[in-house]
Amino acid sequence: MIKSSATQMAAALAKGEVSSLELTQLHLDQISKVDSQVNAFLFVDTEGALEQAKQVDAKRQKGEKLSPLAGVPLALKDVMTQKGVPTTCGSKMLEGWRPPYDSTVVTRLKENGVVILGKTNMDEFAMGSSTENSAYGPTHNPWDLTRIPGGSGGGSSAALAAFEAPLAIGTDTGGSIRQPAAVTGTVGVKPTYGGVSRYGLVAFSSSLDQAGPCARTVLDAAYLHEAIGGYDKLDSTSINAPIPPVVAAAKDGNVKGMKIGVIKELQGDGYQPGVLELFNQSLELLAAQGAEIVEVSCKYFDYALAAYYLIAPSECSSNLARFDAMRYGIRVGEGSAEEVMNKTRQVGFGREVKRRIILGTYALSSGYYDAYYGSAQKVRTLISRDFENAFQQADVLVSPTAPTTAFKIGEKANDPIAMYLNDIATIPTNLAGIGGMSLPSGLAKEDGLPAGFQIMAPAMQDDRMYKAGAALEAALLTKWGKPILDSAPVLGAK
Ligand code: GLN
Repeated sequence: MIKSSATQMAAALAKGEVSSLELTQLHLDQISKVDSQVNAFLFVDTEGALEQAKQVDAKRQKGEKLSPLAGVPLALKDVMTQKGVPTTCGSKMLEGWRPPYDSTVVTRLKENGVVILGKTNMDEFAMGSSTENSAYGPTHNPWDLTRIPGGSGGGSSAALAAFEAPLAIGTDTGGSIRQPAAVTGTVGVKPTYGGVSRYGLVAFSSSLDQAGPCARTVLDAAYLHEAIGGYDKLDSTSINAPIPPVVAAAKDGNVKGMKIGVIKELQGDGYQPGVLELFNQSLELLAAQGAEIVEVSCKYFDYALAAYYLIAPSECSSNLARFDAMRYGIRVGEGSAEEVMNKTRQVGFGREVKRRIILGTYALSSGYYDAYYGSAQKVRTLISRDFENAFQQADVLVSPTAPTTAFKIGEKANDPIAMYLNDIATIPTNLAGIGGMSLPSGLAKEDGLPAGFQIMAPAMQDDRMYKAGAALEAALLTKWGKPILDSAPVLGAK
């Protein structure tokens, strides 16, 4: 049962073949069995999850009308507040903090009867591409425990790949939903900016942060997207418009006549040959279903990474100023307020977070503001224009999600630039505020590890990527004869 898709689990629940309590227990058992090896969870809410499951079962027994995902378990990235449940953001800084309120995503999950199993591991404050920046130890990739599961949301994607949860929530500022999905053989979607509320998402870079669904199938992601998405008056950047019809699009999966634009700048140097090979094979499968493949050029994408590493740290230096030892989390040392603040921030933040705060503070300082932050904002506009032009020529745009498959834990830990390059293909969409999806394209010839195929759509046209994603997923399933995760090593108890 735990290997089924969320949609299959929902159907079994609706038919009474399994109760939510049983299903939740099965996942809690799997977590007990494998998480000592994977370290996907920072907190498992056994009691809370079983209680939620019982409530859904009781409602079902009474014949109440339930939403499609009612009773299905989910893993929540530890950057989202859940009332009374520890929320650390992977940082020592917030150790012991139990938020007094639910994020809007959590409120909606609860309204939909989705059972929250616990909080997943992540790079500290979502800064990183490997989950090695967590203060609570790295998450291990279920495909090969010596490798990274991507980041920052490595815990959420690893939980899916290890069958600890059929659904998860991620957040994506520069690729943190999509890159972990790519390297774990799962699906991840960054919706259009403003498509899912950021209320209760602990801010890293507010103009880029976006929560979204992680799942093992495109249709599962679509159901989760509809459950959590839509306008929220508590988030001033939330879009006041209906959620694009993503479930219908995922069910349709028809790409006949769809124009698919391959971004010239997002391939070639730095991309693993096996990843590119799978990308090209996926294009052929889409073409075989009647899609028209065209090549497009986005010439400012070469500057996207540089712009991101000015904008994101600038916003982070401002957002993380709130961790002042007075209001949240830990407090270290004694003496004046300034001394306590100083000591707490020294002890509470890890190296990467400090690096970003320093970078951002520098970029925003008077005298450098225009040269760095100002220029980066101009590049951001040029990247949006690149997308606008490209979408004149194609309905969706595509690229490999990440340039390589999962690398070894420790391999890039001391080389920030090498780490940043993981997001070379995912960052442009965040800068432009548009949607992006990653789904598995296969196992690379060099190492037998999963690679990701990225699909991008114009703002609020998220349904297009679900349509194309479902088409590719179906074609690949026919080709392989089984879901990709069936090829992953089976994890057992130590
Ligand atoms: N890896 C990128 C970074 O370190 C993106 C992180 C994210 O999307 N949260 O900033």
